Amino acid sequence: MAKIIKVVVFFTFFFSLSTCLAQASPDYAIEKISFQSQPDYTQIFLDVPRETGYIVKELSNPPRLLINLYPAKLFLSQREIKIEDQFVQRIRLSQDSDHVVKIVLDLSNPEYSWAVFPSEDSSQIIVEVRSPEKDVVRRLLRGQEEAFTFSFSPEKASRVKGKIRRIVLDPGHGGKDPGAIGPTGLKEKEVTLAIAKELARLLRREGLEVYLTREDDRFIPLDRRAEIANQLKGDIFLSIHANAGFSRKAGGIETFFNSRYSYGKGAEEVAARENAAFGSTATFKEVRAIVWDLIQDQYRAESNELSHSIQRYLVQATNLEDRGVKSARFYVLRGAAMPAALVEVGFISNPWEERLLKRDSFRKKVALGIFRGLMDYIREYQERVSG
Ligand SMILES: [Zn+2]
Repeated sequence: MAKIIKVVVFFTFFFSLSTCLAQASPDYAIEKISFQSQPDYTQIFLDVPRETGYIVKELSNPPRLLINLYPAKLFLSQREIKIEDQFVQRIRLSQDSDHVVKIVLDLSNPEYSWAVFPSEDSSQIIVEVRSPEKDVVRRLLRGQEEAFTFSFSPEKASRVKGKIRRIVLDPGHGGKDPGAIGPTGLKEKEVTLAIAKELARLLRREGLEVYLTREDDRFIPLDRRAEIANQLKGDIFLSIHANAGFSRKAGGIETFFNSRYSYGKGAEEVAARENAAFGSTATFKEVRAIVWDLIQDQYRAESNELSHSIQRYLVQATNLEDRGVKSARFYVLRGAAMPAALVEVGFISNPWEERLLKRDSFRKKVALGIFRGLMDYIREYQERVSG
């Protein structure tokens, strides 16, 4: 029943969005679909208008990939394209509603992996199906410097059962983006990675599956991070950061969840700073941004719970000032199809807190605080769904 409601809510969003977009321009013609069958993969090329966005959904028994294009109008008489290779049997096309074109790929094998991404000039959406690889993170990261990618898989087997078992940790910044820099030169990107690694160790000891969006000092665009979490089908997404303020005296812990409306003192300033690295992805469109907000919106209540739990235990563990839970529009969170939070583990701009953040012992304390917050959230979530 819960599942049905979710689907209905999803399509309601979908409809209102596509209706309002379609009014802006009447013609979103889909006229050409082609494919390329390779030994390692099959690629399907959908020629789309620049404004057309998409949402991907995986279906099983039999294995299928469903791609909804919106706004879009099907101008193809052909309703079925046969491929019949080792990855894809055929493509089925239909006009699902006035402004939504539905594309179903009937897959050849239940074991597969997929990626959906736009061509560099945004004139095509490319769907790729290939054999599953063991190192899924490495495969996902391989495309990190490529154009903007976006997918959405609302069917998460682990959550259906009411179990949380897969956590995606996102160490903030990395590579060419150092994040905030402290008075003696400590970089936010170093602190976030060290804490994420320690936190991963603690969570894995509890039998949880943990993935990191980066394991080393590399640049990953903000929109790519939630994308990785979605493709990994995470149950929780947590982005880890260290704060910076205009005043050197500013200090303490604060935790955020994504919302289109800001709430909490200074929330917008923090969001503006953390969103600054976003400029890396020129192809990001406002149309897609709207969809991203809708995706994380569905998890807002859970993200709020998650944020409070992390905040409470992290303040306890570190004894730093409690600046509270706040909300604002965070690019790194907004596309995540799961409860998501962003934690600021202290002010790197504050000389006293910078000194703490340099210490291995303090980083461990931070990781332990977040760990307790996560475990408490997981326990309460599982009680809620089973009771
Ligand atoms: Zn940051």
